[in-house]
Amino acid sequence: MRETKLHALSFDVEEYFQVANLRGHFRREDWERVEPRLDIGMGHILGALARHRARATFFFLGWIAERHPQWVVRCLEGGHEVASHGYEHLFLQDLDPARFDVDLATTERALAAAGAPRPIGFRASTFTLTRRTWWAFDVLAARGYRYDSSVHPVKHPVYGVPDFEPGISLVRAGAREIVEFPVSTLPFAGRNLPFGGGGYFRLLPGALTRAALRTLERRGRAGAFYLHPWEFDPGQPRCPAPAFKRFRHYVNLQRTLPRLERLLAEFRFGTMREVLEREGHAERLRA
Ligand SMILES: [Zn+2]
Repeated sequence: MRETKLHALSFDVEEYFQVANLRGHFRREDWERVEPRLDIGMGHILGALARHRARATFFFLGWIAERHPQWVVRCLEGGHEVASHGYEHLFLQDLDPARFDVDLATTERALAAAGAPRPIGFRASTFTLTRRTWWAFDVLAARGYRYDSSVHPVKHPVYGVPDFEPGISLVRAGAREIVEFPVSTLPFAGRNLPFGGGGYFRLLPGALTRAALRTLERRGRAGAFYLHPWEFDPGQPRCPAPAFKRFRHYVNLQRTLPRLERLLAEFRFGTMREVLEREGHAERLRA
């Protein structure tokens, strides 16, 4: 019997007020004053994963790990992987190698203080690892990161490397190599169509997401799927952003949990690290 494919599931652990899409409405200096709602989403996610005996990778913001170390602990207790999403959700193009290095170090300290092992995986805020910020690979490799999940092989005004290989590949970083595991896309009409999570997951019919994952399986590929805790919180306060931004953030929030439950029932999910190990990269991930 053919073994069913293990796909990677991941969550970028950040608050609804830290999302790039709503940047103009929640200022950085207000973060400490806005109502925290992380517990709601994290509770739903960890509950669903436990019910379906699935594991996932949690890319924590360092800022979050400092303020909510209990969620780092609970992720580790659940057998999940804890990785880095950077300290405070800055875009890589607003940093330089030295500042990125500090940002990573600060995040590593916050994760260590919460009890996590040193992270080997990274995902940049808002997929801002592009050709312009390719230097980030050198910084990641020098700090001991083994894999990255920040390149989005799509055409998008803010991020994306449309000609990048979808699926797992190797990126040279100085004398080292980093395994790149982008969130999943499917080739459609000459472009890579994003379906691997976030707003697309809430917007597209659930059947389409499941069909896309099956297509990847038929091609022998492991998918990489991502969501955020705030996507499991339909009761979050609404902010007066322009209509298209509101749509992108609030559309179908009530559907995220049932849709994830269905995916967990029909497919097998593990951490990014587990999937990369199975896909032939165990040696490269070893510290
Ligand atoms: Zn993020």
